[in-house]
Amino acid sequence: MGENFAFFLPVMMASFGVVFAFVWTLRVRAAGYWSAAFFCVAGGFAVPAGFALVPTPFWGFLADLLFASGFLLFSQALLERWRPNWLLRVRIAIWALSVMLCAVSLMLDNLPFELAASDFGCFLLIGLPLIAGRDRLDNWSDRTLFGAATLVALDNLIRGSTVPLTLSGGSFLSSDYAFLMQALACVLGLFLALAALAANMLDLLARYQRDALHDPLSGLLNRRGFDDAIGQRARKLPTQGSLIVCDIDHFKSINDAHGHALGDRVIVTLARILVQFAPAEAITARFGGEEFILFLPDADAARAATVANDIRESIAQEVARQLGLSRPLTASFGLSAVQSGDAAIHDAIARADAALYEAKTHGRNRVCVRRALAVPDKRADGPRSRAQSG
Ligand code: GH3
Ligand code: MG
Ligand code: MG
Repeated sequence: MGENFAFFLPVMMASFGVVFAFVWTLRVRAAGYWSAAFFCVAGGFAVPAGFALVPTPFWGFLADLLFASGFLLFSQALLERWRPNWLLRVRIAIWALSVMLCAVSLMLDNLPFELAASDFGCFLLIGLPLIAGRDRLDNWSDRTLFGAATLVALDNLIRGSTVPLTLSGGSFLSSDYAFLMQALACVLGLFLALAALAANMLDLLARYQRDALHDPLSGLLNRRGFDDAIGQRARKLPTQGSLIVCDIDHFKSINDAHGHALGDRVIVTLARILVQFAPAEAITARFGGEEFILFLPDADAARAATVANDIRESIAQEVARQLGLSRPLTASFGLSAVQSGDAAIHDAIARADAALYEAKTHGRNRVCVRRALAVPDKRADGPRSRAQSG
């Protein structure tokens, strides 16, 4: 049985190394550590093949070195998600001590001590991250990974503590120790790899989802993210709350006068002001080029007008000053409260857009409120809207 494992284990571990290398190319940092760790362990399990070809004590040392390095990398891979670089120096010291004790044992031809030094070193290296991660297990994939790593740590601890019982007098590969090590490495290695793969893939999916819902420039939600956030808050349509839409005034001339890069910085600065003034429960998004939207779930139109006006004043006072623009930079605002007759949030957005249009046509740098869209725009006294001059 040992010989079958001797062939199977390096191939299995190296296959995990390849899989994680692929995940790493998708910019999942921890996967790089997982890949390197599984390749090291694969090398460690492949050592008997080398020994069979050229029998020298060097192979034993190489195996110890590869296992210790593999477990140092496992510890780093685990800590990447829980507490990066935690006790890095301590872990490197454990790695060095373990490798050194293995080398000394080999020189003294003391196999039990060499195996114990290697196993305890591996136990400590994969055990330490468990201390750092125990109160950071946010989801089932974290908990599964924690469980798999705990089993691997226990495996090393128990095996290292029972070396005198399991290491028989014959050859190393025919001992109970070797059989237990290979059998458990097969089962637990598979469990650890699958748990880590699931955690890495979920991280990747979460990142793609985050990217799909956010605007990379401002960091705010994008249009899809806004719709998604509204949908999550109220499964159908919000029955109360207010919408504020905001559009930078004469933004094209900022780009023309100062360049596109500074225009981008204006957008970033403005987004920061929106987040600063929006209530904590607000949903804030960049809806298009220089247009932003805020949904205030619990605010009536009067409260929303106060928020919008505070934002408007802050923009007028801060943005040009912060970015060293030659003339003031302002923004116009339209707002509308959600109404009982609305069929979708987009009804309220349409009213807020109409109010924004009104703010633009009434001279910009102001907040306008729109209660209804129904009245034809052409009538001077038509729309029941109110313009609040800032
Ligand atoms: P108004 O006061 O009527 O809103 O005038 P405006 O110039 O702001 O509006 P207009 O729609 O004419 O121009 C919007 C400009 O916004 C045009 C476009 O170049 C710029 N813009 C859109 N997205 C970005 C962006 O991501 N970065 C930068 N720098 N500019 C952008
Ligand atoms: Mg504009
Ligand atoms: Mg615009």
